[in-house]
Amino acid sequence: MNQEVKSGKILSPSTPWTERHVPGIHTPDEQQVLKATFTEPTIECPECHALVTRTAIAFNAYVCPQCDEHLRMKARDRLTWFFDQIQTELGQEFAAKDPLKFVDSKPYPERMREAQSKTGETEALVVMQGSLNHIPMVACAFEFDFMGGSMGTVVGDRFVQAAERAIAQKQPLICFAASGGARMQEGMLSLMQMARTSAAIQKMKDAHLPYIVVLTHPVYGGVTASLAMLGDVHIAEPKAMIGFAGKRVIEQTVREKLDEPFQRAEYLLDHGVIDQIVHRHALRDTVSRIVAKLMNLP
Ligand SMILES: [Zn+2]
Repeated sequence: MNQEVKSGKILSPSTPWTERHVPGIHTPDEQQVLKATFTEPTIECPECHALVTRTAIAFNAYVCPQCDEHLRMKARDRLTWFFDQIQTELGQEFAAKDPLKFVDSKPYPERMREAQSKTGETEALVVMQGSLNHIPMVACAFEFDFMGGSMGTVVGDRFVQAAERAIAQKQPLICFAASGGARMQEGMLSLMQMARTSAAIQKMKDAHLPYIVVLTHPVYGGVTASLAMLGDVHIAEPKAMIGFAGKRVIEQTVREKLDEPFQRAEYLLDHGVIDQIVHRHALRDTVSRIVAKLMNLP
């Protein structure tokens, strides 16, 4: 095989010598390709280990183009992708306090500042109002990278405000859940959010407005035990892990070995815990179809 074929370019003898491949010397085109390859950040799929550029994965709604693995979406990306049009963001006025002056390995306010600079969010829940397929709605998404998407008072405040806005304007509420549970740094106040959010959802039900939960990987603890399991319809993304306590804690408690997939969405669907598993590419249409049906819209 000659050099020209090895370099991936088959050149005819009539090709000018300036365009022929010489080992160690790159034509401007090749240099550009190399630069693009090296400068554009890539992410590795945790499932098939394929390297995909950030642009390519973002265009594919953070689904691996090689193996269809659903990678985690940031809350803001999720809502921007979900809505056709965003009208406003809600709940930015709520800021976390440190009522217990909680210190574990570091003080809670310091942990909070770290989470804020890491994620660019002020708290673990982002709420937006907009429209999807011409249906106005309120949607919220948990930011898992913000202290494990844990539910503290601000998350509760924002969720309740989202439900109140939905009720006031007779719109459905959609929640993209991804959380490790309640936020231990806020102790009892964090646990209270389970009751608060449940009460807000009951008000949605009283007003006959749909509340739809999309369970994304992973949803655990106090969030599963409250707002994530109180929807009118529960949709999960493929292979999402959903549970209350994690596998290790249950195994230590019941002293039995548990099957690997017992908290996966597919297992939960077979056992009637959730209503359906929807591929991310079909999620927007599925949600808008369900909302239209529940609200008797054309
Ligand atoms: Zn993959």
